Amino acid sequence: MAKVSEIYGSMVFNEHTMQERLPSATYKILLKTIKEGQPLDIEVANVVAHAMKEWAIEKGATHFTHWFQPLSGVTSEKHDSFLDPCPDGRAIMSFSGKELIQSEPDASSFPSGGLRATFEARGYTAWDPTSYAFIKDEVLCIPTAFCSYTGEALDKKTPLLRSMNAIETQVKRTLALFGEHPKRVSVSVGSEQEFFLIPEVEYARREDLVLTGRTLFGYAPCKGQELEEHYFGAIRPTVNEFMKELDNELWSLGISARTKHNEVAPAQHELAPIYTNANRAVDENLLTMEKMRLLASHYGLVCLLHEKPFEGINGSGKHNNWSISADGKNLLDPGDNPIENLRFLVFLVATIEAVDTYQELLRMSVASAGNDHRLGANEAPPAIVSIFLGDELDAIVDSLIKDTSYENAETGALDLGVVTLPDVLKDSADRNRTSPFAFTGNKFEFRMPGSEVNLADANMVLNTVVAKSLKDFVDAMEAEGFCEIPKDDSEDETRASGFSAAAYAYLKRVLVDHKRIIFNGDGYSQEWAEEAERRGLANNRTTASALPCMVRDDSIALFAEMGVLSDIELRSRYEVKLEKYNKLIHIETRVMKRMVRRTFLPAINKYAGELANEINACKDALVGADTNVQEEVLKQLLAGVRRITEALHALEAACDKVDRLADEQEKADFNAETVIPTMEELRAGVDAMEIITSRDLWPVPSYNNMLFYV
Ligand code: ADP
Ligand code: MG
Repeated sequence: MAKVSEIYGSMVFNEHTMQERLPSATYKILLKTIKEGQPLDIEVANVVAHAMKEWAIEKGATHFTHWFQPLSGVTSEKHDSFLDPCPDGRAIMSFSGKELIQSEPDASSFPSGGLRATFEARGYTAWDPTSYAFIKDEVLCIPTAFCSYTGEALDKKTPLLRSMNAIETQVKRTLALFGEHPKRVSVSVGSEQEFFLIPEVEYARREDLVLTGRTLFGYAPCKGQELEEHYFGAIRPTVNEFMKELDNELWSLGISARTKHNEVAPAQHELAPIYTNANRAVDENLLTMEKMRLLASHYGLVCLLHEKPFEGINGSGKHNNWSISADGKNLLDPGDNPIENLRFLVFLVATIEAVDTYQELLRMSVASAGNDHRLGANEAPPAIVSIFLGDELDAIVDSLIKDTSYENAETGALDLGVVTLPDVLKDSADRNRTSPFAFTGNKFEFRMPGSEVNLADANMVLNTVVAKSLKDFVDAMEAEGFCEIPKDDSEDETRASGFSAAAYAYLKRVLVDHKRIIFNGDGYSQEWAEEAERRGLANNRTTASALPCMVRDDSIALFAEMGVLSDIELRSRYEVKLEKYNKLIHIETRVMKRMVRRTFLPAINKYAGELANEINACKDALVGADTNVQEEVLKQLLAGVRRITEALHALEAACDKVDRLADEQEKADFNAETVIPTMEELRAGVDAMEIITSRDLWPVPSYNNMLFYV
């Protein structure tokens, strides 16, 4: 097998390959575009395109595609071959700068939330040189942004890039106050991806899994996750083989898959890469999900990325680890003495303010029909946004608010009692798994995103809201007369001390206003839900209630001020999300109704019939036979059939009502409040029959079958 260092990045047109393949003048210009966002002219693009094509063909590629992320969230691609027929009957392989820079996919079928009527369906993809091109399945993939004829963003990437610009601008302004003038500011993201792997044969027999990605029925397995033996347990051999192939594939794509382990639920696993810049991290995560789905089939497995494939055991999330750095230095690193590290405190407090002020936008960014089943289900963070800081930072925040002096909390080496083990330095922030937004040492970990979500939205919101807090801070400092400190003037003591007094006072005011968002206790508890309500924190339990904040005046003003999304772009996104939610629930109800009528009711009735025959047979064979027990079961089956039928009718009525509603928000509200509870009642009716019906007659694989396999 080839060495990892040889495989790594071999399918990526990365800086190393660029340097190797491009004339040095072109390489330098392209690098300026990548690093400093300078526009690229067509002459240069032609040279780059040619080199890319030659490289791709050597690697076996025959086609190229503009790879983009429409509002559906998944990636899209349309393959064009390099083939260019010549008049003499031969063909050459060609790829021009124009084809690299721009393309026009027939985009009328992508969701646009009314932004683009079908008659003006033109949409353009434009090369994003900050994310490397790569080869996947013999296709040269060019990461692109996707926008309408009139220039509105139609994708997830464009606003993310805009938000990265916004935060870069504000971080630079902030650092200038400290006399620091970094060349490059970037947001780093590391995403931990959870997923399930189950046998393909069982999957294929579950219409609900195949069509909706989750089980709409199914009684809890005999053994769930109560023994907690699966977490970090030895990975089963088939899964191990899958993980190895996955690692290799990801490494060849330059994705630094690093950590893999079994998760808490049976058949659940996690994979985490090493963090990289936010834009690339999102691309990488999308590719990782695609590869997971694809490669599982090589091992007779199916990869489930749905947030809640199985009821009663943990769902899957995607922790979004987020930090900001300037010329490679992490601005969220508290250093040895955080209380005196004013620069760190500015970034910390800006994040606290941003998360509190725009808590609903963060909740919105992870809202989906699937994630609704997970958030707040005693395993994932609740739907209430709060921040966990840990003891040390909490004490610091407290002393800032109260103007008291701060005693360094006890940190130091943990004594493990085993002399041969190295001392483990105690994390200053102990981990609190129940918090939706936790400070973990030198980064924030946003734990609300579901496993299937495209992380672009969450990071776009996070970057935008923190940029806004920083902007307010710098504006306030400038208003007080503290302007940019030129580099060589940073030693100016009097100005610096005046600035720090003003800055500490500002931070104190912000903390007083926003400390309600800080919560270090158990986020799963009922007491927290009540306490959060007293604090005035939002608790948007469903997607239907989480989405409307997108089109509120304060949100529209925020995204406009930060140059991330226009009013019309925001409204279109809101519509797309609402429609998606309603459509998914519509699909789920159709699958449920059909499975109940054609799969479950016939099976239950059949078993009831068999039982009735047996009762009669017993009575025929033996005068005065005691068949009370059998009759009891028969009664339960018949009562079950009645309960199921009534729930089915209730669901049919609820669905008819949704169909008659014209407004998408009204539909969503009705789905959340009425349709979903009705679906749950129908499920409960069927599940209650599963455990008393003969196993031979039960028409679909059980949770036991799906979750426990060799
Ligand atoms: P955990 O113990 O929570 O599973 P790790 O500390 O291993 O997590 O990190 C999880 C993810 O966070 C990884 O993808 C890692 O690369 C990423 N990460 C680490 N440091 C940073 C940082 N400064 N900024 C962003 N992401 C980071
Ligand atoms: Mg983590």
